This record gives sequence, structure tokens and C-alpha cells, in this order.
Amino acid sequence: MRIEPIRFKTDSAESRVCIKCGVEKDLDQFAKDKKGKYGRRSQCRDCERAGNTKRVMGWKRRNPDRVKAARAQYSNSHQEVIRANSKRNKPIYYKKNRESILARAAVKRRQFRIENPLPPKIVQTAEEIKKGLKSYNQRQSAMLTDGYVKKQIVKRMPGVSRADIPADLVKLKRDMLLLKRSRKNGVT
Ligand SMILES: [Zn+2]
Repeated sequence: MRIEPIRFKTDSAESRVCIKCGVEKDLDQFAKDKKGKYGRRSQCRDCERAGNTKRVMGWKRRNPDRVKAARAQYSNSHQEVIRANSKRNKPIYYKKNRESILARAAVKRRQFRIENPLPPKIVQTAEEIKKGLKSYNQRQSAMLTDGYVKKQIVKRMPGVSRADIPADLVKLKRDMLLLKRSRKNGVT
């Protein structure tokens, strides 16, 4: 019995075998090359691309300073393009990564609070609160703020909601209060 020699697939006009990955592929999977067999390169497009990427990545790893300088130069000369792209991509990116973005922000917030603790809460006694409120009311009264004037109106007209008091009435009441005060001051 005769043993047939092993026959490897050879290139044909429709396809050829990539010398890198050894896979037989259609000719259009190889870049054109006038000097190559069937006018094509010997490595398939995928292998060439992978090789290029590998070479570029290796070069970048070996030349971090040149990469940094090139990036700086690019961002300097393409500010407007970068800004426009960022404006367009930001909402898309946010939509896609909402959860991780929010989670990261929460971690950052907590970290910030740990590094910048809030001052201790001031605990006021009932007496202090009363005093504070009195001085607040005194200030409101002295300034005749809308809130204060409305309060005086409601005192005379119980059941009226502050929101329903027209601005004209507030103005009138304020004038009346001023008049009353000036009279009182005139007497003393
Ligand atoms: Zn290949």
C-alpha cells in the first residue's frame, strides 16, 4: 500500500493561506500588493492589523514621554474638536454608565466627608431657642418684612391664608404700621 504524502492546502486564485495564522481565506481578506502572489500580501488583514497594534503598543510602552508630548500637542491644537466631541459624547457616556458613575461619585462624596468633617452640631437649650426666635422676630419687625406684615394682618383677620393676602394690602398694612410707630416715637 502506497502512502500518500501529506498535501497542504495551497493558494488558489480565489483564496490563499495566510503565512501568519495559516488560515485559508478569501483573497479580499488580504491587502493588495502588486508584487505578491495573486497580487496580494502574504499576511491576512487581521494578522497585519494585530501585528501593527502590537508594534504600536510596544513602541508606546517604550516611549512614554513621546506619547505624553504628542498627546499634549494634539489637545493643544484640537481644543475645539475635543470640546465638541466631549459635548456630544458626554450624555451618551452618562446614559450608558449611569450606575457606575453615580457609585463612584458616592464614594468620592463619602471620602470627602471623611477628610472634611462637618463641625459638631450646636445643641441649643430651650431658653436659647426662645431667645433666638425673639431676636429673629425683632429683626423681622424692625425690617417690616412681607412675612412679618402678613402675620400682623392674619392676627386681625384670623382664618385668612397668608398666600391669599394681596400685595396692595401688605403695602397698606406696612404703611399703617410705620405711621403707628412714628406716632409712638413722637409721644415718647
Ligand atoms: Zn492571518
